[in-house]
Amino acid sequence: MITSKKLIVFSAPSGAGKTTLVKYLLSMFNKIEFSISATSRKPRGKEKDGVDYYFLTDLEFKERINKKKFVEYEEVYGGYFYGTLKSELKRIWEDNKIVIFDIDVVGGFNIKEMFPKETLSVFVMPPSLEILEKRLIDRGDISKDEIRMRIKKAKNELDFASKFDNIIINGDLKESKEIAFSIIKKFIENE
Ligand code: 5GP
Repeated sequence: MITSKKLIVFSAPSGAGKTTLVKYLLSMFNKIEFSISATSRKPRGKEKDGVDYYFLTDLEFKERINKKKFVEYEEVYGGYFYGTLKSELKRIWEDNKIVIFDIDVVGGFNIKEMFPKETLSVFVMPPSLEILEKRLIDRGDISKDEIRMRIKKAKNELDFASKFDNIIINGDLKESKEIAFSIIKKFIENE
């Protein structure tokens, strides 16, 4: 039985550090569980199906769109789809846990619009676009073209920051972790 439905959204331009913060929070709070998104892109590095993403073919993804299986979905970077399946929220809520999302800015904004009272939304802001670009280059797993695309997208995404409940400027990771911890602790305890 689902007793309460709560959601935490972490959104940011790619490379701002939201994934690190989400992983940290997952290690600190038993009560929250990661929403595994579906994507039509191929796995990178050590990524595993059903752990990092549900990896679908383009056709499988489109079939699920037609069958209205998604809470939200987007074509994030040139032709690749990313989305949150309704079944994923059900799975986590039935376990009496709070869903935490690591999704792009528009996706995060849409979740907050769909569940305004139940959602705590956090925008992770890079200290500057230059630092963001450097972080993406240092990651070493994406092409120059993709980096250019992500920086272009980041410029638009920064305009959304004020629509989120909280903004964390991620310059110093230790400090950002502390801020994220106290925001989430308060949200969880307010049940
Ligand atoms: P990546 O390919 O680097 O794993 O992710 C690319 C972008 O897609 C990131 O900004 C990531 O947060 C976003 N993303 C991941 N899952 C979802 C989702 O379910 N919905 C939306 N809208 N974006 C997502």
